[in-house]
Amino acid sequence: MNTTTLTPVQHSRSVERIVRGQPTSDGDGVKLTRVLTQPLQKRLDPFLMLDAFGSDAASDYIGGFPSHPHRGFETVTIMLEGRMRHKDSVGNVGLLEPGSVQWMTAGRGIIHSEMPEQEEGRMAGFQLWVNLAAKDKMTAPAYRDVPPADVPALALADGVLIRVIAGSTLGVSGAVSRPTTEPLVLDIALPAGRSFDAALPAGHNAFVYVYGGGVVDVGGDAPTRVESERMAILANDAAADGVRLTAVQAARVLLVAGAPLNEPIAQYGPFVMNTTAQIHQAVEDFQRGALTT
Ligand code: FE
Repeated sequence: MNTTTLTPVQHSRSVERIVRGQPTSDGDGVKLTRVLTQPLQKRLDPFLMLDAFGSDAASDYIGGFPSHPHRGFETVTIMLEGRMRHKDSVGNVGLLEPGSVQWMTAGRGIIHSEMPEQEEGRMAGFQLWVNLAAKDKMTAPAYRDVPPADVPALALADGVLIRVIAGSTLGVSGAVSRPTTEPLVLDIALPAGRSFDAALPAGHNAFVYVYGGGVVDVGGDAPTRVESERMAILANDAAADGVRLTAVQAARVLLVAGAPLNEPIAQYGPFVMNTTAQIHQAVEDFQRGALTT
């Protein structure tokens, strides 16, 4: 853990829009909230999806996510509570435990399952989908499990705690760094009354998701109040050098930013390509057992 001083943001981005997620289910009946939905994919390019899941009731998660395919993008699973077992067609097996992160590059194709490794107790976390550039969509699949101790953590003097999942902040490099989309993913714990300034490249699309029951003022001089379980899309402002987050009530905040790809997005369920023809090819490859070869 590092202790460092804060570099204040001179001009904070403001909130363009607050989004309330849509309750839905996926996999074998896992209840979740889809926060970043398909209509927001262009606005939040390169991010394709954010699901938040959290339940004390085993019936909400026990079905898990049985074997299913992906092609054309990356999935990032951020476990907060509970345990899930990952298995995939590449031969990887991993246990997702509280505080761990799994970064999977589906590339040209992967078939995997994510099943709960518990029959009771709380299961909570996020899954974020990050698009791959056209040139990288058919890359070889890759998978990385990051145990809790390997997620770089930054403890600021005023009690603010930051887990640097991807990208870098205040000179600390995250567990994962990716070219092209340059994703920044921070999990921030803000005590009541405390602020955190995150530097953001002006060209990145960015959003925050407030959770943990807190309330956060987002922005500089005239901030927007964001309640728990809400996403705030941050305005793209060429003059802004980051975002200021101030907790009105102690909160956790997921801050996500990335460089847009500005390419066509064609999605059919677990396949995200650039054209309909490529989607048809993915479905055909999957049906004839050739997705992963
Ligand atoms: Fe999956």
